[in-house]
Amino acid sequence: MKLIKNRSKFVTAVIADHNGNIFELEGYAAVGMAGRSFSPLTADMTIQMPFGGEMMFLPDRRPVLYNIKKNIIETLKENPYSPGHPIFPVAAFNSPGYVITHVAAYREEESAGYLPLFSYGAMGWERGRFVSAVIQVDAERRQDLRLMKHKNIVAGISRMRKKMPKNRLRAHLENCALKYGCPAGKNFFLGRFEAPLPTSRSCNASCLGCLSLQDKKEISNSQERINFMPSPEEIAEVALAHIQHVDQAIVSFGQGCEGEPLLAARSIDPAIQMIRSQTDSGTINLNTNGSIPEILARLFDAGLDSVRISLNSVRKDCYNAYFRPNGYTFDDVMKSINLALHRKKFISINYLNCPGFTDSPEEVEVFMGFLRQYPVNMIQWRNLNFDPVRYYDIMEKIERHGPPMGMNTLVSDIKKSFPSIKHGYFNPAKENF
Ligand code: SF4
Repeated sequence: MKLIKNRSKFVTAVIADHNGNIFELEGYAAVGMAGRSFSPLTADMTIQMPFGGEMMFLPDRRPVLYNIKKNIIETLKENPYSPGHPIFPVAAFNSPGYVITHVAAYREEESAGYLPLFSYGAMGWERGRFVSAVIQVDAERRQDLRLMKHKNIVAGISRMRKKMPKNRLRAHLENCALKYGCPAGKNFFLGRFEAPLPTSRSCNASCLGCLSLQDKKEISNSQERINFMPSPEEIAEVALAHIQHVDQAIVSFGQGCEGEPLLAARSIDPAIQMIRSQTDSGTINLNTNGSIPEILARLFDAGLDSVRISLNSVRKDCYNAYFRPNGYTFDDVMKSINLALHRKKFISINYLNCPGFTDSPEEVEVFMGFLRQYPVNMIQWRNLNFDPVRYYDIMEKIERHGPPMGMNTLVSDIKKSFPSIKHGYFNPAKENF
């Protein structure tokens, strides 16, 4: 292993004891994992952990660290300074707008089950602060918790209750904001940026990392799926309340607490028409799996402004292994992307990122080809919220992946090759298309 002479450059490893107490381990550097490759973290690979990030201790796993003195990467079962005391890896769940460049490095114990639905970024300790191996792709403070005071949310909730007491969608969003802490739900009541319009109870995919419905007993879904379909009137009432109240407002179908919105078109289509019959203001956006281009065309006719289509990969087999489509195909998704381009509608892809896979030579080559064939307007980089080792194992069964090129390099290469494509995390308002 190449010796890194300037030891001060290393980021000190952070680990946890069995009670979840987190502390740095002198003499060891933090290590980042990308697929099967491990690299010691140096200061220039990290930034101070962004506000709002959370640290997580990973059970039934052992940390992989860099022993600076011995110049080796090793898996530690116990605290070298306190033999007999087991230690565990620590990962960062970074706040929105930051793409992880490395996963926290660890090895599973035999007893290990699936990790919950979060992303597990590499992190460490450096010059008296926690640092994260991330790159910032979106500086907008749309979901900055410091700007989302609880008392203002509660005030917004009572204001909307008076305004639309019988609206079931308004009541559902209260639950999202208060029980699940959903930033999009909070922003509706705060009258900021983007309001969510969840509508669909069902889905025609079965994503491994679905937040609202999991078929694996050992993985719990992060929130309950909406159990009713709001009427066009209820949707339009919530949307108009936001659009009439917020500058450069965005209202979005396709949230974490629902299925696939294209399956709820009988409510969404008339709702969009109602909204557009009353105002041209605001951006009406659809977050979708892009499975039914015919319905997407209808929603564009109704007045939909923009669409965001989710992809974990642009290789059909890797896509199918993650989305597990039911009644649609990868080609249907490509047709939807083509349709949006043809209709000159603003199209983003919601690219679910996992270091080691996303920046693998196999994925990058096909992704560059995809961007040449489908010149989308924006790439929204989203850290994949799924067990990274299990995900990589599943994808390795489909195709062996070579050494990763690095997420930094990938993002900068795309910027060089496709300068007109926007990079970010949040759906833009039409004023910023
Ligand atoms: S498309 Fe969305 S709702 Fe459907 S399974 Fe995937 S994550 Fe879940």
